[in-house]
Amino acid sequence: MNRWQQPVTEIKGIGEETSEAFREMGIETIGDLFMYFPFRYEDYEVRDLADVKHEEKVTVEGKVHSEPSLTYYARKKSRLTFRLLVDRYLITVTCFNRPYLKTKLAINETVTVTGKWDQHRQTITAMEIRFGALSEKRELEPVYSTRGALTVKGMRRFMKLALEQFGAAIEETLPPSLMQAYRLWPKKDALAAIHFPSSHEALKQARRRLVYEEFLLFQLKMHALRKIQREQSKGIAHDFPLEKWQQFIEQLPFPLTGAQQRVVREIIKDMRSPYRMNRLLQGDVGSGKTVVAAIALYATVLSGYQGALMVPTEILAEQHAQSLRQLLEPVGVSVELLTSSVKGKRRKELLEKLMTGQLDIVIGTHALIQEDVNFHRLGLVITDEQHRFGVEQRRVLREKGESPDVLFMTATPIPRTLAITAFGEMDVSVIDEMPAGRKKVETYWVKHNMLERVLQFIDKEVQKGRQAYVICPLIEESEKLDVQNAIDVHSMLVHHYRGKYQIGLMHGRLSAEEKEEVMKAFSRNDVHILVSTTVVEVGVNVPNATVMVIYDAERFGLAQLHQLRGRVGRGSEQSYCILVADPKSETGKERMRIMTETNDGFVLSEKDLELRGPGDFFGTKQSGMPEFKLGDVVHDYRILEVARSDAAKLIHSRAFWQEDAYRPLRTYLEQSGVLNGEKLD
Ligand code: ADP
Ligand code: MG
Repeated sequence: MNRWQQPVTEIKGIGEETSEAFREMGIETIGDLFMYFPFRYEDYEVRDLADVKHEEKVTVEGKVHSEPSLTYYARKKSRLTFRLLVDRYLITVTCFNRPYLKTKLAINETVTVTGKWDQHRQTITAMEIRFGALSEKRELEPVYSTRGALTVKGMRRFMKLALEQFGAAIEETLPPSLMQAYRLWPKKDALAAIHFPSSHEALKQARRRLVYEEFLLFQLKMHALRKIQREQSKGIAHDFPLEKWQQFIEQLPFPLTGAQQRVVREIIKDMRSPYRMNRLLQGDVGSGKTVVAAIALYATVLSGYQGALMVPTEILAEQHAQSLRQLLEPVGVSVELLTSSVKGKRRKELLEKLMTGQLDIVIGTHALIQEDVNFHRLGLVITDEQHRFGVEQRRVLREKGESPDVLFMTATPIPRTLAITAFGEMDVSVIDEMPAGRKKVETYWVKHNMLERVLQFIDKEVQKGRQAYVICPLIEESEKLDVQNAIDVHSMLVHHYRGKYQIGLMHGRLSAEEKEEVMKAFSRNDVHILVSTTVVEVGVNVPNATVMVIYDAERFGLAQLHQLRGRVGRGSEQSYCILVADPKSETGKERMRIMTETNDGFVLSEKDLELRGPGDFFGTKQSGMPEFKLGDVVHDYRILEVARSDAAKLIHSRAFWQEDAYRPLRTYLEQSGVLNGEKLD
């Protein structure tokens, strides 16, 4: 059997108790143990005392120069002191509550002392005394998180034992070609050094090697999945008269932006291929995804198929139906809305038309796929705002119907680093350009004590006939508080404007119909100011709204603030976003500043990722982000990108599937269940 997979009890000196503690830590095999990395390192650097500042932590090496003296006080406490000769200095070392050291510290013995330096008294208060000199002038000691009876020291000891006994037998995973290309350390050296680095440089090299391997394995898995999906899911090869389709694009009310043209090409190429499309379309709010969707839907209809567009809310479904009708009905494509509010006879009619193929395009909420809706010939499924749905829902969707092409659209500007990890099994298209002539939303950050002026500002805009949103924070722990918050702000505004304006209220406790009602009133400008929780975040389109006020803005992620800001600036008027926030932390202030400085969703999302970390990015844990042991998708993103492109090349190369050098990588794919015994080449 492979050494790597042998149980930890094979290591000499590891008994029942220890292996029990290991089990609790998820360590069963020798391989698990080697892959249990320190979460930090204690840094012992021997320094010249002349360079050490008062009260700094320091490690020195010296010879015991005097008999240690021991005094007891307060019953059980003790203090041990002795003189230590460090180079040319004679200093004092004090050590509390370790009386047993007295007999062990012999004169002239070499010891290494780590502790706090008192410059005035020329004394080190020792935290640690080790016998003998350090092997290097700088030593990094691993610190592990441990459980049960296991201590950090014990863990170090067992790790050393394991490395001595099995370290040399650690097999190489990477082929020589890649190791040479990036000058990567052999795996066994890297593992030894990640646990017991001889220097900072060694640690860096060890980490670089292991992170690359971790990312490469992950990306190989993703690319293999993708290849299998492609080759096994025979899709529809859309076939349609190109001239007619191009005419449609030419008669649109505006020319496509360069980015739109590019993503349309990418999508149409997928649609015409016999493979099934599985593509993510990213584009910032207002970048013009709807028209891209319309162009793809038109292509499926021209090919003799039907299309479906799915969105998370009914309001959005209605808005999309409206804009798609405008674009597609003039060229003879039928578009209908199918939501839970379409009932009775009308619903029956619609379902009948869908089944017989008399209806081309249907738009609805996600209930559309779950319900018993049958299509005549479904060719293309588009979902909007898919970041709200995890990997699992994406799979369910793909498995519906015969095998329609699938396009996921999202307005959340997912940073590249995240997109290539969380959505590694998908192709990604990005609209990274805004239609010309768009006005920037002017963004201001004010403190709560400026609220009066904010209300005056809203007043001025509403006087001009414009509308405003006032967003109350989402209090995650309590929906009740959340709603109460909105109700309070609402009554404050009602009181403030004294019947001058209609003020609407929107929150998660309202029924779908009630929400609809409020939104419609706001769309008609019957409601002038809309107080809401974040439920308006996604996709709502009221071009006459020019003010977005966000209360307690520090509680939101940058990506979310940007989404909210995207609700204004949709018409021809100058729009404004006002962040009301008193952030306490520097990070909080930094986030507010960034919001006022940029309107670019991608810049914001990269910043957000940096400031909050990937777990937080989607606001929830169910983000579908893979967890890495060592790699950090933010700080190691360069390695991630390299690994991604290497994995893509490998998966499509003959050598990978045939040559011996790649066997460990192939074995990994088999063991992770990706290959399911099927051959890919
Ligand atoms: P989103 O990507 O947020 O869904 P939309 O598709 O709603 O954006 O587009 C926002 C607005 O921009 C719409 O009014 C749309 O008609 C307009 N638009 C889209 N593409 C262009 C373009 N190439 N030139 C000018 N306006 C465009
Ligand atoms: Mg949209």
